[in-house]
Amino acid sequence: MPRRIAILGSTGSIGVNALKVASSLGKEVEIIALSADSNIKVLARQVNIFNPKVICVRDGSYAQKIKKIIPSCVKVLCGNDGLEEIASRADIDTVLFAISGLSCTKPLIKAIESKKKIALANKEALVSAGSIIMRLAKENGVNIIPIDSEHSAIFQCLEGKREYLKKLYLTATGGPLRDIPKSRFDRLSPNFILNHPKWKMGKKISVDSATMMNKGLEIIEAKWLFDVDAGDIEVVVHPEAIIHSMISLIDGTFFAQLSVPDMRLPIQYAITYPVRFDTKLRSLNFSQIRSLSLERPDTKKFPCLNLAQRALEMAGVYPALLNAANEEAVKKYLECKIKFSRIPYIIEKVLAGYTGSKIKELSLNEIIGAECWAREEALRLCH
Ligand code: NDP
Ligand code: MG
Repeated sequence: MPRRIAILGSTGSIGVNALKVASSLGKEVEIIALSADSNIKVLARQVNIFNPKVICVRDGSYAQKIKKIIPSCVKVLCGNDGLEEIASRADIDTVLFAISGLSCTKPLIKAIESKKKIALANKEALVSAGSIIMRLAKENGVNIIPIDSEHSAIFQCLEGKREYLKKLYLTATGGPLRDIPKSRFDRLSPNFILNHPKWKMGKKISVDSATMMNKGLEIIEAKWLFDVDAGDIEVVVHPEAIIHSMISLIDGTFFAQLSVPDMRLPIQYAITYPVRFDTKLRSLNFSQIRSLSLERPDTKKFPCLNLAQRALEMAGVYPALLNAANEEAVKKYLECKIKFSRIPYIIEKVLAGYTGSKIKELSLNEIIGAECWAREEALRLCH
């Protein structure tokens, strides 16, 4: 039986790679559903190649447009309701979440409640609602297999060793600004910042890599995925992007996962877990690798790392505030409305200005309410 999968966010960087993986896996995978926000040109092309039964787009107007250019047998849904409908379809076993941002929180919860296997690339949902998502996954006996390369590495290193875990080490390339003095940051164009030295990714995560907020979000993501304390997660800068992360065990042994930096590898493992198939990717060639370096991150230069750590320690609604403020600030930065150095400033102010509920166990509605407040506050600070 092929694995019957839905790829939500199929037109993005992860989504396109997931479809490449599906093609290379051939009969092992059947694509049942795809989704995009507004990029119906690319989605229509994907529909014609992969023949899904159902797709989802942003709203009714995009649905009307795409219906004119795809076969009429394909069901077209729209909005969050459409994503939730896909997430709970009986003919889907695995839902791969490649949507960026917080809009995938409710479809993710729906997929967990529908007991689907989850292949999770999106990190924002876990950052803001990690306690709810992981509790539901446990209650429903659902496996969440991470796609984020660091978390996939840790997931793979941990297999059979969870009870002996001491510490997690998340590796970071340091992003495109690692060797550039902080005084120059505000003079660099968004185009420069979007050009990551090792990974080709969507715009939002590329800016997050430059501020190192991506690593901050990943600390929080790791806390929820692997149920570890914030103090037991360390960030290590590793510019070569060959070691994708590491764990240490109580006896002092370290395990690391190494591979070429290519997202198709963690995507494929999340789809086929626990089985492995040939990825046909090039292998690491140790005769060409001169050194593997590891260094401490510069938190003065990249204050977002400490902001994320602080939000995690403050717990409750704070990671959601951090995430929402960051999303708004990054959007404004990409629209050239604010300077690069305003991003951490705005996030810090939003965290400091919050006076709402500080309880640790929150409902989804309380989290969404706090996120709305953080967005408005971030936008006010952008002016
Ligand atoms: P992209 O921006 O490239 O793609 C996002 C996808 O989500 C697109 O298909 C987009 O549709 C869709 N989308 C965007 N907004 C909405 C919305 N409001 N409702 C429904 N669909 C929406 O992002 P990436 O592929 O880079 O990243 C996806 C997620 O994976 C992020 O959470 C990111 O942090 C995480 N991730 C990404 C990695 C990477 O290498 N890219 C690595 C590790 C994690 P449309 O094309 O129509 O806009
Ligand atoms: Mg990552």
